[in-house]
Amino acid sequence: MYNLPNLDDVSLRHKNVLVRVDFNLPIMDGKVTDSTRVSRSVPTIRDIIKMNGKAILLSHFSRPNGQVNSAMSLEQVVSAVEEVLNHKVIFIKTNWNDVSEAKKIIDDAPLGSVFLMENTRFHEGEEKNDKELAKRMASLGEIYVNDAFSASHRAHASTESLAHLLPSYAGRAMQRELRALSSGLDNPSHPVIAIIGGAKVSSKIDLIENLLKKVDGLVIGGGMANTFLYAMGIGIGNSLCERDLAGIANKIMDKADKEHCAIILPIDANVAWEFKANAKHRFYGLDAIDPNGMILDIGPASIERIKGAIDEAKTVIWNGPLGAFEYEPFDAGTIEIAKHVAKRTKFNDLVSVAGGGDTVAALAKAGVSDSFTYISTAGGAFLEWMEGKPLPAIEALKTNRDKN
Ligand code: AMP
Repeated sequence: MYNLPNLDDVSLRHKNVLVRVDFNLPIMDGKVTDSTRVSRSVPTIRDIIKMNGKAILLSHFSRPNGQVNSAMSLEQVVSAVEEVLNHKVIFIKTNWNDVSEAKKIIDDAPLGSVFLMENTRFHEGEEKNDKELAKRMASLGEIYVNDAFSASHRAHASTESLAHLLPSYAGRAMQRELRALSSGLDNPSHPVIAIIGGAKVSSKIDLIENLLKKVDGLVIGGGMANTFLYAMGIGIGNSLCERDLAGIANKIMDKADKEHCAIILPIDANVAWEFKANAKHRFYGLDAIDPNGMILDIGPASIERIKGAIDEAKTVIWNGPLGAFEYEPFDAGTIEIAKHVAKRTKFNDLVSVAGGGDTVAALAKAGVSDSFTYISTAGGAFLEWMEGKPLPAIEALKTNRDKN
């Protein structure tokens, strides 16, 4: 399915290669706090400079809404990129209305140089997928490589239009991500268990409906499980719940039945009376939840049940925390399940794929970031992939493949 043209299909020798990366990195007090996305782009950039090509990196950063905004300049990530890449990076304060000066800088630099262009979103044409802007981008290179899976759910000038204007290829990080995601959902070893958590059912209806058709078991935890429990007539006290979605929750459970997908809901809960760290808390069975209490995490019996399901699985895909993981001790369920998946991955050949902003943070908190088969740093793109939606930037690479 993801048989895309890649860097093995093209000679990069002495070529100017435009690479769409995602350097929308988290920054605190002017310092990059996590450069995972840069590390993942290194193999592609190295492949280019090894062949004495020039790597011209394109990325967005934050949401400048089409305006030049120095607080959102990509210049602030240059030293972090240089450190991870171990190579000089020439930052180009690109004027996206007229790229002639940028072109001159690129032409005058020696072979094997790496350039980082200014934030593509400083021009309003980026988010409008403007062809003229894409043409100006294309004029800077001879080949286009997309290495930013996390930006691929957006049809923007640098992710979509540009791919139609030059010979286009998937980069190494993109290939690796698509391979990992395919092994999780498109072509997995069964049984497959999906673990879905997070605050609300409403944001994940499409995702759940798509998963039902593909997985053998669906573990539902987090705030969204409350809506299902409520729909089943269970008293959930003051817990977060979308009562108006009870009908949808029931339909989902019916559909799961028809698709032979087991829905695994919590069977007990850690209940508190305040939403804060170290709030007074107590474990309850589902028949006895205090009417004034709030479910903030799954309980020990649920943890054991989910571990049992994981033990039978060959593949686990995961999005969303199983409780209010930002607050101790309500992170316990998420952490224990994360550690169990990590252990099974290491010792039992379980394929484990996880993604989404909160999930990445929760797995980092559990100390298992390096122990899953693959953790996607993509937020929106990962969710849309789980929803089974085509991602426009990937589709553009496919069109390019089919043309050749
Ligand atoms: P999402 O962005 O939909 O993946 O939701 C993540 C958020 O859900 C996190 O901030 C969690 O604190 C929150 N969450 C998970 N479980 C619960 C719960 N039982 N009650 C309230 N919030 C929860």
